Amino acid sequence: IEPKEALFEKEPTRWAATPKFRFLLHKALNEKLEKISRLEKFKPEKMNPGCKENGSSCILGSGVVLTYVWEILRDLGLLDTIPLYRAKMPFPLNNVFIDFLLEKYDRILVLEETYPVIEQQLRDRFKIFGRLNGHVPEEGELLPEIVEDIMTTFLGLPQVKRPVPEQAPPRRPTLCPGCPHRASFYALRKVFRKGIYPGDIGCYTLGLNLEAVDTVLCMGAAISQAAGFYHSFKNNSEDEVPDIVATIGDSTFFHSGIPALINAVVEGARFVLLILDNSTTAMTGNQPTPATGKRASGEISDKKVSINKVVEACGVEFVREEDPYNLKNFIELLKEAREYVRAPDGGIAVVIAKHPCLMDRDYRQQMTKLKVRITDKCKSCHYCIDNFECPALVEVPDEDRVTIDYSICTGCGVCVSVCPRKAIVAET
Ligand code: SF4
Ligand code: SF4
Repeated sequence: IEPKEALFEKEPTRWAATPKFRFLLHKALNEKLEKISRLEKFKPEKMNPGCKENGSSCILGSGVVLTYVWEILRDLGLLDTIPLYRAKMPFPLNNVFIDFLLEKYDRILVLEETYPVIEQQLRDRFKIFGRLNGHVPEEGELLPEIVEDIMTTFLGLPQVKRPVPEQAPPRRPTLCPGCPHRASFYALRKVFRKGIYPGDIGCYTLGLNLEAVDTVLCMGAAISQAAGFYHSFKNNSEDEVPDIVATIGDSTFFHSGIPALINAVVEGARFVLLILDNSTTAMTGNQPTPATGKRASGEISDKKVSINKVVEACGVEFVREEDPYNLKNFIELLKEAREYVRAPDGGIAVVIAKHPCLMDRDYRQQMTKLKVRITDKCKSCHYCIDNFECPALVEVPDEDRVTIDYSICTGCGVCVSVCPRKAIVAET
């Protein structure tokens, strides 16, 4: 792409959204929306163009749900009978189209995911069948079978009887084999058995399934909620003040954790904050973080931002870093952090759990892979499966025996420190 020459024309009435100009900006916005709502190119289109507009019912919607509707109409042989409209732009919905729709049809089924944005723009409540009149469930995803039931009711057809499919064995989402977060969560649960664990948003939210995450709200909330829990519990008698351990990923910390941490420090909160630093933004596709020395484009930057220094600059006095793969040391560090939080002159203890994400191809290629195996010492107690949950540790079907699935084992070797009987051994 040819770089363009930049130009900025000063026009505060347009670019400075201060109270003085907001009224004008709001007016300009409404005028723009009105103009957009009359543009022909955004007018909803009929997905079954061969269907005549001579019936009394039609369907309007947006998104993937329309592909289900199209297939259901096809299977019911109604593609030539029920007009199906796709809203190219749900907001603002084309005004000319709204007038046409309300004049032409007596019954209009509106199908759209999540919030009823299209539906609320259709003014005649008596003609509209959707989330607002309860015809479409107000919550939840519009799955094909749900859409089919909605459509048959709307069209006055008999409900479809579906065979109950055979259920696959339940398998809950879990962290990858060898994920350093699993080691961190395991250590957290070992040290803080009855704590409160505010969590945050990232792949480490899966700590929920390891009973190491109690709350998830929005980015940065782990820290503000931890502070909130502390201030709520601080007046309880000392043995009733729970350990509060917040977890947040490195990129989420950079993104939204810093203001919450500053506030927690200044307000005198006390809790352990575990920053799960895997040197990437794993959940969204391994984008670099400011600590990696890489730019969003992948170019190398000559600047890196140190998490440790940022935490110190926020006013935290206890900042330590450890690799959670060194499980024993990591557990000891968490114990130290707890002591600091509860000491008379304590405060917030930040522990940075530093180990690269195994999804990072470069790291995977150079990491030391251990050959782990389960020895005869194994008593099939299932402690490792129940408490550590590495997907590579599996039960042999129909045998009371635990084994390693080498097709997914990453050779991280953390399970060696987990087995209480030292039945798992590792060789390089
Ligand atoms: S490997 Fe260890 S923890 Fe796992 S089942 Fe065997 S004895 Fe129990
Ligand atoms: S070495 Fe152990 S903990 Fe690591 S992936 Fe293999 S089975 Fe899981």
